[in-house]
Amino acid sequence: MEKHILSKSTFIRGVQCLKSLYLHNKRPYLRDKLSPEQLAKFRRGTKLGIIAQRLFPGGIDLRPRSYRQYAQKLEQTRNYIESDNENIILYEAGFQYDGLLSFIDVLVKDRNGWTAYEVKSSTKISETFLIDAAFQYYVITNSGLQLNDFQIIYVNENYKYNGNEDVNLNDIFIKKSVLDEVLKRQKFITDKVEEEKKVFELEKSPQIEPGEHCTNPYPCDFIGHCWKKIPKEKWPEIEYKDESFYDFVDDILNIAGGKR
Ligand code: SF4
Repeated sequence: MEKHILSKSTFIRGVQCLKSLYLHNKRPYLRDKLSPEQLAKFRRGTKLGIIAQRLFPGGIDLRPRSYRQYAQKLEQTRNYIESDNENIILYEAGFQYDGLLSFIDVLVKDRNGWTAYEVKSSTKISETFLIDAAFQYYVITNSGLQLNDFQIIYVNENYKYNGNEDVNLNDIFIKKSVLDEVLKRQKFITDKVEEEKKVFELEKSPQIEPGEHCTNPYPCDFIGHCWKKIPKEKWPEIEYKDESFYDFVDDILNIAGGKR
């Protein structure tokens, strides 16, 4: 397997801050410990993604359990794509192109062609989600698979549980095509990928002063390192989504979690 340099998450890290990308790659031991809130957030996001896959029942799960399975999962993905099957549903199909790696939550082939779906544990589609989708589209299409559409699946904030046992996942999640937005950002992805790859060749970390970007869009995990000379009272406050959103997601996980 070709060695990958940038995954989706490291690419997004570099969009937020090139120094963070450098430290992540060359000085990972400087990273802050994950807070319980961040760990809980990651777990909820993963579980919600797995539940959203049930919008497309009967799919083949290609999720790699560790990085050692990457090559195997990439090959399996290729085999399914090259097969003659007219209808295919893949969970976590993997793609690689020019040192970039991407696993897409759901990939569906029907009579219209291939559609990629990415699940977000959020009630809104942010600019970061669009860049994230644009990166995945870039890797998938450049690796040789033409996509008919790219959609983001997110949480319906107006969903109200009515107490019935039969939960309709189509009421909980919203699917929205972002293909036009993704296409508009392809030039940005091309340029940014080149810029980020150059960071790996640097001998020293890029000179980037800490600032508002350290918590936007995500709290950086090198704040303890970069802000250490700044008095603690001036450190950025890490804001998490308000509690009601997490209660809402927990409700969804409880309601839909047991259903198959
Ligand atoms: S703390 Fe701020 S300046 Fe330092 S790596 Fe993170 S985002 Fe960049």
